[in-house]
Amino acid sequence: MDARLQLLAFVFLNQALTTAIWWVAGTWLGMSRKAARHWMLAGLANGTGLTLTVVNGGWQNTAQMLMAGFLVTLGCVSLRRGMQAFLRIPHTDKVHGAVLVGLALFNLGICGPLSWRAAGMVAGGLTACWMLAACARETFNPIRREYSASLAHFHNAIMASSMAVFLGVVVTAAFPDVYWPWYQFSPEAGQFTLVFACVSLAIVSSGLLMYFVVMRLVQRLEHLSRHDALTGLLNRRAIEGMLDREVQRLQRFGETFTVLMVDIDHFKRVNDRLGHAAGDAVLCAVARTLEEQAREVDRVARYGGEEFCVLLPHTQHEGAVQAAERLREAISQVNIPWNDTTISVTVSTGMACALDTKESLSGLLRRADEALYRAKAEGRNRVVVSELMRCVA
Ligand code: GH3
Ligand code: MG
Ligand code: MG
Repeated sequence: MDARLQLLAFVFLNQALTTAIWWVAGTWLGMSRKAARHWMLAGLANGTGLTLTVVNGGWQNTAQMLMAGFLVTLGCVSLRRGMQAFLRIPHTDKVHGAVLVGLALFNLGICGPLSWRAAGMVAGGLTACWMLAACARETFNPIRREYSASLAHFHNAIMASSMAVFLGVVVTAAFPDVYWPWYQFSPEAGQFTLVFACVSLAIVSSGLLMYFVVMRLVQRLEHLSRHDALTGLLNRRAIEGMLDREVQRLQRFGETFTVLMVDIDHFKRVNDRLGHAAGDAVLCAVARTLEEQAREVDRVARYGGEEFCVLLPHTQHEGAVQAAERLREAISQVNIPWNDTTISVTVSTGMACALDTKESLSGLLRRADEALYRAKAEGRNRVVVSELMRCVA
């Protein structure tokens, strides 16, 4: 097959694939919809722009090259706009609109009629570079925060390489009589190298963007699997994993800890009297209070219905009792506004200290449960400490 046709097929296949991937991701899978739509447009614009540089005389054809320059710039604008949507950073639509309209008018009004192919290409190339530089600058910190510093550097390296390619086009177009190393075989070879570099960068860039989208999805799923949807606290599975690790630490290093089982008193009455939504508001208020009152190192989870579990690392005896009393007291002080009334609740707490290296997690939780049961039986709104702790202490 003719080399030009091969290159064309390469450009077409890659850009069609990129466009299709973003279309499927955004439309069917609902992954970062807005960003995917912009990246799809970027793939389409870049692919068409690059194709124009190869077909039908390519580089020598003024109208084609002006159109190609405009489309590649549109691709860079769409890429940047997609990043802004994806990373939720302020968009710059007015600048983008002005840039594209300005470039189109410059091409149609001046470069086209006067056959200023080089001027149009220089304007397109420099504008594309400007968009990529702005994109690199504004996305570095958000990418570093959400993913990692190395991925932020990698993303910027792709932006910088793309800018280098566009600058290569700009200087070649501006100074066609100078001997350029990439033109040493023939202008055609230089042109092929340029298209090949663009497509390769587009592949790497799409791969990185796909990785960003998938990783965000994975992080969301992981968060959902470890957190309670109503209160936002850790869920039972997550806290049990943490308790398990604490038990191992106790066995290995002798690091003691305490578990609190906190249950809202007469919670059913709230539901029965004011409705399920009021009950939900109480659950959220209790969850918030527990989180606010707990120390940074403590872990608070919704263990089930109206029962919460608090893990107090490096805490035992009086320290743990003080913490449990502080939480109980704080919850009893909370007034939850509901329609034209306020709701207040109390909690009962069962407390078990992990001191015995031979005790299993289920044994420890059973003790905390038994203490909670006794707190209920003894009149509620109180903290009851499991017997074993008293013996060991
Ligand atoms: P006690 O003082 O003995 O703990 O009594 P209680 O009424 O708090 O306990 P009981 O186990 O009888 O009732 C718990 C209620 O919690 C029953 C259930 O409908 C309600 N509940 C469980 N999960 C939710 C929830 O997510 N939202 C709401 N609103 N209610 C819930
Ligand atoms: Mg209850
Ligand atoms: Mg209960």
